[in-house]
Amino acid sequence: MKTKRLLIVVTMLCLLQSTKTFAQTDTLCGYQTAYNWLVQQDSSYLNFEIQHVENIKRYRNWKALNAAVQLPPITGSGYATSAIGCPKAKFIVPVAVHIIHDPTDTSLGSGTNISDAQVENQIEELNKYFAGQSGGVNTGIQFCLTYKDINGNTQKRITRRGDNLTTNHLPSEIDDVMALDKLDQTRYLNIWVVKTILTDGGQDIGVRGYSTMPGRIDVDGIVVRYNSFGNYNNCSGCNLASPSRGNTLAHEVGHYLGIWHTFQDSCAGNDTSDCALKGDRCCDTPPMLQNSGCNYSSNTCHNESPDEDDPIENFMSYSSESCKTSFTQDQADIMHTTLYTHRSSLVQPSWLAQVSSCCNITATFEATALQRCSGDTSAVYFSSIASSGRSYQWFMYRNDTLIDSSGVSGNAVYAWHPSQNGMYTIALRVIDGSDTISEVRSNYVQRLDCGTPLASPYGNWYFGQYCELNFKQGGSVISGSCCTTLFWGIY
Ligand SMILES: [Zn+2]
Repeated sequence: MKTKRLLIVVTMLCLLQSTKTFAQTDTLCGYQTAYNWLVQQDSSYLNFEIQHVENIKRYRNWKALNAAVQLPPITGSGYATSAIGCPKAKFIVPVAVHIIHDPTDTSLGSGTNISDAQVENQIEELNKYFAGQSGGVNTGIQFCLTYKDINGNTQKRITRRGDNLTTNHLPSEIDDVMALDKLDQTRYLNIWVVKTILTDGGQDIGVRGYSTMPGRIDVDGIVVRYNSFGNYNNCSGCNLASPSRGNTLAHEVGHYLGIWHTFQDSCAGNDTSDCALKGDRCCDTPPMLQNSGCNYSSNTCHNESPDEDDPIENFMSYSSESCKTSFTQDQADIMHTTLYTHRSSLVQPSWLAQVSSCCNITATFEATALQRCSGDTSAVYFSSIASSGRSYQWFMYRNDTLIDSSGVSGNAVYAWHPSQNGMYTIALRVIDGSDTISEVRSNYVQRLDCGTPLASPYGNWYFGQYCELNFKQGGSVISGSCCTTLFWGIY
């Protein structure tokens, strides 16, 4: 057996913009500072944007293919309900929060040593924002702080440490802060809570947080100032500044999941021909200049048609916290792209089954193989997150025709093998009482003759981290569990 293991070194975002001069606002983000430092450490980060933008383009095409697949109606009724009121989420991201407090704040809840309740408030606010409860779209992304320990008790992933790095850490100390306490960054969104953050010039101008875009494994995550971590309006006893609505974290998670500021490249991307390619790569966020405050009639770019006001309500603007309320669909799509590619290891069902105890209904699934040689009659196993009381139904399509499906059952795993060469679209519907959620993946599994050279249309694959090419059948076949949530580059 000859197996070649490919490690694709994911690279950091390239933002071809000069260092910004930050104006004083109440929602400052030090993302550019972090970016500058990371590029300084390794210029290969510059390749990330190229890869990321290409992935976004592919995902948009793939999403259109997926949307065209109409699942058959559900037959039967009276399905069990496992947990009434669980929100539906396309993705669930496990989160770990590390409180790096002032060494003098020794008692829990005092000063920078914020309480568990404040952390929980922030994650609840984050989930509301990502669910569209304050405005904009439901992104379909939720965040989970809790897990069940071996005794079945719910625990929170919160660590605490007194360290002087909590105060005024420099950009050159980002890696030191992120090394203090952390969980595997390919498996958890790590968030560090600190006292103050400095900018490039070593000044404290009130930066509330910063984030790394996907692209690094060892220096990766989000840092937020302790008094911006939560919603001042509904977190009594919390150590929060009055402007804080907890949306600094929403903004930084946006970066972490691959979206840009709404003022990226100033007024670039101003019409339907280039809005998906320039600026923030979103056509539903009108171009704007870097802003501050809360001026709803602000209109700083006039070259788009029709001329629209600035999207100051968007989480990725620099508006005051009190008026930032929403993400758009195009932003959600970019975040989904990241979760299908660079950050797919966060959201794999087999992983989430181990580490998530949050109440969510999701139809995310994975497969034991994405390719099958024609002579191989063994089954491909598709699996989602098992939950008692929920029902699962699998659908297999070839050439846009439904060729097979499982019955509705309580089994989150389905064994199946493709009987003819070609590309197969796989879909899953999860039923929880009267609630359903489905996931369609066009051209997800391929059956092919491995003795012949690979056809050129399938030559342009994207590989995630630690994917594997297996040559034992005479041709190259992708295998390895880490490959199971990636999507293909053939559309
Ligand atoms: Zn930002």
